[in-house]
Amino acid sequence: MANDVQDQAIAGLAEQRLVSDPATIREAGWLFDAWGRLDQMIEGGRLPHGLLLHGRLGAPMTALLETLARRLICHAPEQGWPCGHCPACRQAEQGSFPDIQRLADDPEHRDIPVDAIRGLIEGAFLTRYGRMRLVLVERIERLNRASGNALLKLLEEPPESMQFLCTVEQVDRLLPTIRSRLQRLRLREPRPEEQARWWRQTTGCSPEQAELLAFIDDPTLVDGHEPTFDWQAVTEAWVTLAEGRGSPLAPLAPWLATPRPVLARWLLRLWPAVARHQAGLSAEGLPAGLEPSVKRLAAAHGTEQWLAVQTRLIRFAREAGHPLHPELSVEQLALDLVDPRLPRRLDSAV
Ligand SMILES: [Zn+2]
Repeated sequence: MANDVQDQAIAGLAEQRLVSDPATIREAGWLFDAWGRLDQMIEGGRLPHGLLLHGRLGAPMTALLETLARRLICHAPEQGWPCGHCPACRQAEQGSFPDIQRLADDPEHRDIPVDAIRGLIEGAFLTRYGRMRLVLVERIERLNRASGNALLKLLEEPPESMQFLCTVEQVDRLLPTIRSRLQRLRLREPRPEEQARWWRQTTGCSPEQAELLAFIDDPTLVDGHEPTFDWQAVTEAWVTLAEGRGSPLAPLAPWLATPRPVLARWLLRLWPAVARHQAGLSAEGLPAGLEPSVKRLAAAHGTEQWLAVQTRLIRFAREAGHPLHPELSVEQLALDLVDPRLPRRLDSAV
């Protein structure tokens, strides 16, 4: 595995966040379907002033959001796509277009803090540069009561020509007052091979890496109001296992309480953070509270052993949807991670 590709994708997604190459939308079926409907709305002057894109979140959805924003500010769209070379497109590309305000997804904050909305409101009433001011809110279900109420005021009485573009995955978590102010466009669920193709085209990685990137690109794992699983207990269990404290089967309780695909994604997201630490780099893209666990995992393994851990995690991820042996496969994972260089008991069974 080329760990740098994986690191780049998981740790920051910073560059990926700004991807808005129309080619990546055209080639990704589930994004292209949504694009067609958005284009019809724009052409017919029916784009709602509060748009909610509802679907699987991650780098592809961010690419759709950014491309849509550029389509709206572009001086001369070409057949419905942002031209990519007018002053507005170029400034947006550099992240410096003054009429776009973003509340990007941020793993450091489980909620959108009310201060972020206050900043947004201050900016909203400044003089416009172009014909429209855009407010982009990613994973809007992260609003808490205070920030939700603050945003609601702006949604109810927006300045002239303000356009809201928001994304959501867990729409039932969104405050009803906010939800009722937004018009929802539902994206269909992407097929795994469509996601993998998207990753291959945007990063140039191998088919195997693309499959992995599609699998672990899931920002909802560290979630807003309540965690969807006990990631602290899951992580702590791994540290306990790695440090050789207690029985090798000690992690089974929190791990078995977590759906296997979620467990696999979470452990695979921790992996590059530990690898970065071993390489003397800072851990990026994970909640700050995880740093002590990342350090202990790094200290408990040699680099060679850590590489073997990744192979075992990928194997577990591939088996995560397998209907057979759920307990056995988690048990095997625990044994694998104690010494990833030993042969696997389950290899003949799966
Ligand atoms: Zn343009």
